[in-house]
Amino acid sequence: MIDHIPAGNALTVLKICGISGKEGNTISIAINVPSSKAGRKDIVKIEDRELEPQEVDIIALIAPNATINIIRDFKVVEKNRVKLPKTVKAYPRCINPNCVTNTKEPVEPHFIIRSEEPLRIRCYYCHIVMDKDDVIKNL
Ligand SMILES: [Zn+2]
Repeated sequence: MIDHIPAGNALTVLKICGISGKEGNTISIAINVPSSKAGRKDIVKIEDRELEPQEVDIIALIAPNATINIIRDFKVVEKNRVKLPKTVKAYPRCINPNCVTNTKEPVEPHFIIRSEEPLRIRCYYCHIVMDKDDVIKNL
């Protein structure tokens, strides 16, 4: 279960996890839930699916306060707050069409995290800086 997602970002989190709904897992989504801390928040619950570290890193970019709860037999057995990584690889795509990662070269995207709030990430190759909207659009 992924809790404390900024309101309105639940569907982006599912996209990061590559979930279309056709996988067969039971998925519950709550959007704009009243929260004492954040005012409103989203919650995503994916059954029978562990998150890959790479997915958790990207979730941390758009939901830096998210917590990932692992539930077994209706009990929370693990509760981890996401940590902003120093770099992310493979996703998102670079917004610079001339970047080496957007050519036919076998070079995967690689970004350095510059700041958390507001989010700024810099392409390792072409040095272009992307914000949160750029990240969400290019997942
Ligand atoms: Zn680039």
